[in-house]
Amino acid sequence: MATHTGGCLCGAIRYEITGEPVRAAHCHCDDCRKATGASFATNVFFREEDIKITQGTPKRFQADSGDTMTKEFCGNCGSQLFGIGSGSSGIKHVKVGSLDDASFVHPQIEVYTSKKLPFTRLSDDTEHYETSRPR
Ligand SMILES: [Zn+2]
Repeated sequence: MATHTGGCLCGAIRYEITGEPVRAAHCHCDDCRKATGASFATNVFFREEDIKITQGTPKRFQADSGDTMTKEFCGNCGSQLFGIGSGSSGIKHVKVGSLDDASFVHPQIEVYTSKKLPFTRLSDDTEHYETSRPR
């Protein structure tokens, strides 16, 4: 079974993931933009039990925009690591940039495309949703 590792910029927090992603998505929503400081976020979803923190303790912040989203990040360097949405229990997403090697990730969908910045080009390889993915 594949093992993926990752962590924050300063190295205080490290994690290990066993197993393959449930899905991967680019998210163009305002919260993801603010949290990452980037034009959009690429979120890789795993089963919560497959993610193990091997070093450090992430700080938590709760953002409330309809669904409650808990962000986990490094309190020292500020790197965004994980997100937990109240709408999808047992699933946690990993910010793609925190993975040591993210070459295995293939995003299938883009969500909140109605919020995307004008200069962001949507991929031809993804399905696009104006808001969230239909459940
Ligand atoms: Zn850090």
